[in-house]
Amino acid sequence: MAQRVVVAVDGPSGSGKSTVSRRLATALQARYLDTGAMYRAATWAVLAADAELTDPDGIYKIVSAAQLDITTDPAAPGISVDGVNVDGPIRGTEVTQAVSAVAAVPAVRRLLVELQQKIIIEAGRIVVEGRDIGTVVAPDADLKVYLTASAAARAARRSAEVQSDHAATEADLARRDHLDSTRATDPLRQADDAVVLDSTGLGIDEVVRELLLLLEKRAAR
Ligand code: C5P
Repeated sequence: MAQRVVVAVDGPSGSGKSTVSRRLATALQARYLDTGAMYRAATWAVLAADAELTDPDGIYKIVSAAQLDITTDPAAPGISVDGVNVDGPIRGTEVTQAVSAVAAVPAVRRLLVELQQKIIIEAGRIVVEGRDIGTVVAPDADLKVYLTASAAARAARRSAEVQSDHAATEADLARRDHLDSTRATDPLRQADDAVVLDSTGLGIDEVVRELLLLLEKRAAR
C-alpha cells in the first residue's frame, strides 16, 4: 500500500494512545512512531550522564550528542541510545519522573521534532503519537485525533500496565499532565481541527474502528 497517510494521535498520559496507535497502524499497514519514547530515551541519556535536570544547556549537549535509533514497526517498536537498547529502562520510575523536565527544554524539542518530521516523510504511511503532533510536528496530518479519558480511567490503565499503586499513579499522571500542558514550548494542546475522542467507556477495538471510519470518510471527500 503506497498511498501516503499521516495520522496524528495526541492526548494526555494513559489515554490509550499507544495501544490505539499501534493497532491503527497495523490495520492501515502503516508505520508507527512513539514520540514519547524518543523523549524518554533522551531523558535516559541525560540521567546516564548524571546531568542536572535544571541545566537546559547541559541537557541539550547530552541529547544532541546521543544517537537515537527508533524502529517504527507497529508489531515490534523499539528504541536505542548509542546502540544500547533502552526499551526497558525508559519505562522505569526514574525516567518517568524526569522526562517532562527534559521535554520542556526548547532546544531538545527542536532537535527531536526535526528527527520526527524526517521519519514521517520517509515512512509516508504512519501513525504518530505524542503531545504536539497535530499542532507542531505534523500540522498537515490527514487525521488528527485528541484521545482523552477520565483521570481515574487513565490511572487505572497505567497502574495495570506498570503494576503500580493506583493513587500514586494518578498523582504522577496529574503532575506530568500539568507540566506537559503548561510548558512554554509546544505544550500538550488539542489542535483546532482535531477529532476529540473520550475513550473512558470504550474498548480499544471500538476506538480503532471509529478512527478507521473517520479516515474512510475523509478519503471519500
Ligand atoms: O507518551 P509518554 O507518556 O511516553 O511520554 C512521556 C513524556 O514525553 C510526556 O510526559 C511528555 O513530557 C513528553 N512528550 C512530549 N512531546 C511528545 C511526546 C512526549 O513532550 N510529542
